[in-house]
This record gives sequence, structure tokens and C-alpha cells, in this order.
Amino acid sequence: MPTHDHYVIIGNGPAGNAAAFTLRENDPDAAITIISHENICFYSKPKLVKYLAGKVDEDALAVRTMDEYRRRHIRLRLGQTVAHIDPDSQSLHLSHMEKVHYTDLIIASGARARLLPSMKPYADCLTFVTEFNDTRGLRKKIADGSRFFIFGGDLVAFKFLKMLTDMGKQVTLLLYPRAFWPHRLTKDMQDAIVKNLAPTGADILADDDLDTIVQDQGKYCVTTKQGVRTQADLVFSFNGLIPEVDFARGCGLEIDHGILVDETMRTSLEHIFACGSCAQIYNPDINTYTTSIGWPNAQVQGKVAGLNLLGEHHKVRPAGRKYFDLEGVKIKTSWWEDLEKGKDT
Ligand SMILES: Cc1cc2nc3c(=O)[nH]c(=O)nc-3n(C[C@H](O)[C@H](O)[C@H](O)COP(=O)(O)OP(=O)(O)OC[C@H]3O[C@@H](n4cnc5c(N)ncnc54)[C@H](O)[C@@H]3O)c2cc1C
Repeated sequence: MPTHDHYVIIGNGPAGNAAAFTLRENDPDAAITIISHENICFYSKPKLVKYLAGKVDEDALAVRTMDEYRRRHIRLRLGQTVAHIDPDSQSLHLSHMEKVHYTDLIIASGARARLLPSMKPYADCLTFVTEFNDTRGLRKKIADGSRFFIFGGDLVAFKFLKMLTDMGKQVTLLLYPRAFWPHRLTKDMQDAIVKNLAPTGADILADDDLDTIVQDQGKYCVTTKQGVRTQADLVFSFNGLIPEVDFARGCGLEIDHGILVDETMRTSLEHIFACGSCAQIYNPDINTYTTSIGWPNAQVQGKVAGLNLLGEHHKVRPAGRKYFDLEGVKIKTSWWEDLEKGKDT
């Protein structure tokens, strides 16, 4: 008997793709749709740094081709934004006024750059890189520019710093101890990072803060609280990511920083799952909900969401002691794996 189910996935990153392809493997008949506000097929965010450095072309970013979706009968709706969820009618309202009905929904909407409240007046002066759309025109600006300012201190901040100094650019980093939110770098950690980054030749400012940014004819003058003034072609802000969930607020879903889910990726509402960077998962070890970062986490969670939507009973659990190496400093983080399988996928 053909099924009339329509599984809809918001998000075309690793979580959304793992969910969609898991659903197709286990349900050959259902209609499956992925919706993404980006216009590009599934691509590697980690490779964006090499792309901006001019080391690889756009083609090298692709993780899947359009043909793979066609062959698996997964409908990809690119360049479309979900504005609102209506759980009562089980439908999504897209920003161009179309409604899409679902029988089950998986939210895999990822995360966006964190704009610090103190930086709001200078938002127009800041450059963020969290998705391919952000890179349009940026490759040329980086190639043409000679001096860059980085405000932050998350993993991407340091990747960018090294990318720019490897290209022979002059870089000033203002290390913000709360950039790797929700972690806070201690003085010792900051010292270790400064020491580790010294061989890059970048100017590194610690124990200071941004005061003002003035834009003049496409260039920027950055002044710190301690009075250091720096000219820059671009000012990057890398102060961590926050779950992209605004469109889901007000529909009845329980949301804190991210969409609250249990260990099976179920949200507080029937027929709706959430996974990847947009989700905040219940962690029984510490009896609280935590967000997770990283590509492998998103994949595991997407797969588990897909399997459970189909009636299986998989749980994710935080795996042992896992760390991110942040320039010689170990930051403890939750790393999730499928409890049922006992291994990452
Ligand atoms: C520059 C950079 C470098 C990185 N390097 C690494 C690395 O080296 N290692 C690592 O593990 N991780 C890295 N990451 C992090 C990694 O890319 C993320 O952890 C991962 O992509 C999260 O996957 P996700 O599926 O949850 O969300 P995302 O990959 O962020 O995908 C979210 C999707 O949701 C869609 N979406 C969001 N809101 C809407 C809406 N309202 N309507 C329609 N669509 C919507 C977006 O279009 C997108 O398709 C990096 C990230 C960046 C930005």
C-alpha cells in the first residue's frame, strides 16, 4: 500500500540530510521534502575557509549533487524560508505566503552568528561567516585587502586568522574571552592561546574590548577601550553561534536557547522532531538541556530523528570525555552518539 505520508525537513545541512536519507532508506514510499533558505545544494561549511582563501572553487564545496536527490525522490526546495509553524493544521507557512502540509516535521535549521549586545550599534560594520550566502563578494575583498581585524575567539576565528596570515595579510585579533559561548576563557587559557598563535605573526590583543568602529569610504577604523587604533579593510566577528529558531517561536514548541528535545530528538509537540545545532538536548548525566556543535553531532542526531520518526526507539547520549582543541586549550564539550548503535555514524 503506498503511503501518503509527507515528511518535511527544515534545513539542508548535515542534520537535515542525515534525516532525509535515513527516512528514504527506511520508507521507500513517503514523500520527503527538504526546505532551505539557501540557494546552494548541500555543501561543506568547514571548507568555506579554503574557498574564501581561493584554494578551492565552489564545486569543491558540494557534499551531494542534485542528481542524488532526484534518484532518491527527495524534493529539494532551495531559496525558500519557513516563516512560521502551525502544529494544529500540521503546516508550514513559507515567507512567500505558501503553505506546506506535513505529516511529520524535522527541524534542522542550524545556528547563526551571535551578535554581542554591545556590538549592535556597529552591526553594519561587521562581517560574519556562517553560511555560503555570507561569502558572496567576500573572496575578492579578502584577495584585494591587506589589513583585517578579527573580533572573537571561537574555532572559526582562529581558522580565519591562520587563513589570512598564510595569505600574507596583516591581522589584528582582539580575543574575546566569551566568544566560545557558553564557555569562558580564563586568563591562563587566554595566555596559552596568545602563545600558540604567536608564530602566525598576527597582532593579538587580550584583556581589552572593542570601543568604537568608524566606517569611512569602505575602510574601518577600530578603537579599543584601551585606546589601540587599527585600520582594517574588513572587521570579522566570530563570537560563537546561537540556534536559528526564531521562526519556531510562538507555535507552542518549548524553546530555551534551542528547541528542547529529549534523547530521542522529540520536541514538546507531537509529529515534530529537532536535531543538529538548533536543538537543545536533554542530558540525563547533568539533568539539563545542552546545545551541541559540530558536523558529526548533527549527522548522528539527524539519523536518530529520522529513525524515531519511523517508530524506532533510538536515543542519543553524550559520549565519554570529548574535547575541542582551541589553540592548545582543551574545551570540554558534549559529543553525541547513537546509544542504540553504540557508535557515531
Ligand atoms: C566557517 C565554518 C567552519 C566550520 N568548521 C567546522 C569544522 O571544522 N568541524 C566541525 O565539526 N564543524 C565545523 N563547523 C560547524 C558545522 O558546519 C555545523 O556544526 C553544522 O553545519 C551544523 O549542522 P546543522 O545541520 O545542524 O545546521 P546547518 O549546517 O547550519 O544547516 C542549517 C540549514 O537550515 C536552513 N534554515 C535555517 N533556517 C531556515 C528557515 N527559517 N527556513 C528554511 N531553511 C532554514 C539553512 O538554509 C541550512 O540549510 C563550521 C561552521 C562554519 C560556519
